[in-house]
Amino acid sequence: MDIELKLSETGKNLRSSLIRELLKYASIPGSISFGGGVPDPNTFPRHELAEIAKEVIEKEYAYTLQYNTTEGDDELVKQIAKLLERMYGITGIDRPNILFTTGSQQALDLLARVFLDKDSICIVEFPVYLGAASAFRMMFPQFITIPLQDDGMDVDYLERKLKELDSEGKIKNVKFIYTVPNFHNPAGVTMSLEKRKRLVELAEKYDLLVIEDDPYGMLRFEGEHLPALYKLAGPDRVVLLNTFSKILTPGLRIGMIIGRADIVRKATLAKQAADLCSPSLNQRIAARYLERYDLFEQLKPGIELYKRKKDVMMKALEEEFADIKGVHWVNPQGGLFTWLTLPDGFDTMDMFEIAKEKMIYYIPGQAFTIDDSVSTSMRLSFCLPPEEKIIEGVKRLKAVVVEYGKRKGLIG
Ligand SMILES: *Cc1c(COP(=O)(O)O)cnc(C)c1O
Repeated sequence: MDIELKLSETGKNLRSSLIRELLKYASIPGSISFGGGVPDPNTFPRHELAEIAKEVIEKEYAYTLQYNTTEGDDELVKQIAKLLERMYGITGIDRPNILFTTGSQQALDLLARVFLDKDSICIVEFPVYLGAASAFRMMFPQFITIPLQDDGMDVDYLERKLKELDSEGKIKNVKFIYTVPNFHNPAGVTMSLEKRKRLVELAEKYDLLVIEDDPYGMLRFEGEHLPALYKLAGPDRVVLLNTFSKILTPGLRIGMIIGRADIVRKATLAKQAADLCSPSLNQRIAARYLERYDLFEQLKPGIELYKRKKDVMMKALEEEFADIKGVHWVNPQGGLFTWLTLPDGFDTMDMFEIAKEKMIYYIPGQAFTIDDSVSTSMRLSFCLPPEEKIIEGVKRLKAVVVEYGKRKGLIG
């Protein structure tokens, strides 16, 4: 049987992510990887979670081992409401405003189903978070990409685009603007307060919805906390996504949609069709964990660790790359990533062959484009390798860049 003949448009459209392909190499002994985008397992509170898991299975089995409601655990809602208030100053969040999802990946998928058609336009950042792009792509919308700058989305460019769409009569097709305002994955940048305000103004002017994806907001290691778009504009304008993946453990697969009751309701109905419910056990474990431990305190050592590693990487980049003209990198104030851009003419995907030889791995910027276009940039994660490996890795990366640059006649 020729399976190709049976496949749907969606089925035909599916392909393995570049990241998965590239990460295969990272496990070869002697290699150093800046590729992985996952938290350091040593930051997971495993003993605490193990104890709670045993307890809630034995004592709360009628809940934890049973089917859950689609909306998810009410006990967790109570804890999240407190957390949202402390984290963002957001108040008034109650049961109808929260849907727990299987990671925020499912939240992205559900919102795509609820909002996007073939003729829809969705506005994303460039570079874009790959998980969001894959989820949105399933609905075949048209993408418009807005470049990121060191202080977040280029809102002037966004304004021009919106004006253009409006004059063409297409603004009604724009379903939402998707943004990762804090410590962007992959770009590492954070949207300034001024830009947050302008984004909200534009959304109001053109009557657009904003999807704010904030998995890293609590992982700030320097600088001042900035208000969430949700806090600035309220639930009429913004749907907020959050997740335990980067602040507790991704293994629990707990994400959430926070927003207007009618939007949350639609997403809940879509979730019912997708998987009935997310695991009650995981949600109750998280609820009891938050009840017993102060997440902000628990996060402190992890944030310290990431900050130290980030500083080591910044210093190494300065030492190795300052002498190459036209190289730019982002100094992130939190999160897990920096974004290194090489001079014009470099193609970080093509260069990956040399990186493989020298056993240093990164994610080429091409992986974070909508149209698979060539990129001079790469995503570097500092969270997993030990400090001495970060220094050694940046040295190897420099050697890769120099060799590639010479071969292509890009540097002297
Ligand atoms: C890691 C990450 C997520 C989290 O995905 P989960 O499905 O919750 O594990 C969401 N958005 C962005 C931008 C991320 O980097």
